[in-house]
Amino acid sequence: TEACLAAIDKADALNAFVHKTPEIALQQAKAADARLAQGNAPSMCGLPVGIKDLFCTKGVPSQAASRILEGFTPEYESTVSGNLFNAGSVMLGKLNMDEFAMGSSNETSCYGNAVNPWRRGDDDTALTPGGSSGGSASAVAADLCLAATGTDTGGSIRQPAAFTGTVGIKPTYGRCSRWGVVAFASSLDQAGPMTKTVRDAAIMLETMCGHDAKDSTSADIPVPDFESMLTGDIKGKKIGIPKEYHMDGIPAEIDKLWEDGRAMLKDAGAEIVDISLPHTKYALPAYYVIAPAEASSNLARYDGVRYGHRAKLEAGDGITEMYEKTRAEGFGAEVQRRVMIGTYVLSAGFYDAYYNRARRVRTLIKKDFDDVFAAGIDAILTPATPSAAFGLGEMTDADPVKMYLNDVFTVTVNLAGLPGISVPTGLDAQGLPLGLQLIGRPWEEGDLLNTAYALE
Ligand code: GLN
Repeated sequence: TEACLAAIDKADALNAFVHKTPEIALQQAKAADARLAQGNAPSMCGLPVGIKDLFCTKGVPSQAASRILEGFTPEYESTVSGNLFNAGSVMLGKLNMDEFAMGSSNETSCYGNAVNPWRRGDDDTALTPGGSSGGSASAVAADLCLAATGTDTGGSIRQPAAFTGTVGIKPTYGRCSRWGVVAFASSLDQAGPMTKTVRDAAIMLETMCGHDAKDSTSADIPVPDFESMLTGDIKGKKIGIPKEYHMDGIPAEIDKLWEDGRAMLKDAGAEIVDISLPHTKYALPAYYVIAPAEASSNLARYDGVRYGHRAKLEAGDGITEMYEKTRAEGFGAEVQRRVMIGTYVLSAGFYDAYYNRARRVRTLIKKDFDDVFAAGIDAILTPATPSAAFGLGEMTDADPVKMYLNDVFTVTVNLAGLPGISVPTGLDAQGLPLGLQLIGRPWEEGDLLNTAYALE
């Protein structure tokens, strides 16, 4: 813990931690030492971790990287962070992210972006660690913590993991409790670990997840000992390669990485099978209707009364002016864009044309996956991202849709509620890490982790 705290203090330039909690860390570490001395402590006991700012942490500022939550210090602990602390994990602080987890580069944060510790060859251009869990990815990659929590609504664990050479798993929807995690799009949000290795991910996921009566969508399904399932034996497993993920404009090195991944799994004894997920091309548009729709509804609670920031009012201002001024000042541009898209697609005149249609598309996307799993496929291998980490500022002035395209390989998994993991599998020509994604059957994270273990 002391080594991590020292490393964090030296790494301010990465802007990974937005709130440091050294006193809490040292106190928890001491308690963990006592527990370890008694023997029989849980595997996560004493391990220093970082917590994404989207998780409510008791007595510690939790702002979801938004100005509108300025000054908000929760009275309660999210179930997932509580599970980690009950197991003896040590909290080093809160990690940077895109505002309300909306973004793919960490550049929508009210704290400014986190920075990727990796560089392109000798070129000193600062690169994005990805988003929205950019601070988590940067902190793990730079050895500021042993592991971190992330959340993933459309790729926010898997894309930053791929950009930083780390491992990130989004479990099946319902595996981790959403209680105390600031809501973005409730039917898509899942927490998950961001770690250095697949084994660490298995250990940390087991600690984070489990049934929670406080989240009505939390699944009452036993949590297996994921670590014990890491045998590396994938003989006879059927790995699907979906033809729709061969997309135009994807760099050759991504295709090459994908081919190498196939070869590695084949060498390990898996059978490689060409499959089709025919509705893939509709996933991104459906996601960018459903996610903003849910976000606009979830963000209605930030009204200047209940939490955080309230705008300064002038004489004669009424409640409407208070809402308007508070939300105009408190929400950044991307969040405001999502609120506008969301309220538009949910409005009476457009509900059927956009929101309901997107929900029907979502069902078809889920059915694509159900069909291939029913046909005997155990896991699906795809690229995790369409490129390696890009330069900070490179995508922000452009059309926002360009940024959205980053999520093309990851959003299908959230729409279908499936587990997905990003595994670092190579470097691009400039020496930047690249990741492959494995998608598994619902509730079979153990199997998925084992396949990832064979690929690592
Ligand atoms: N980049 C996607 C978005 O901006 C996904 C974000 C996430 O998974 N939280 O919506």
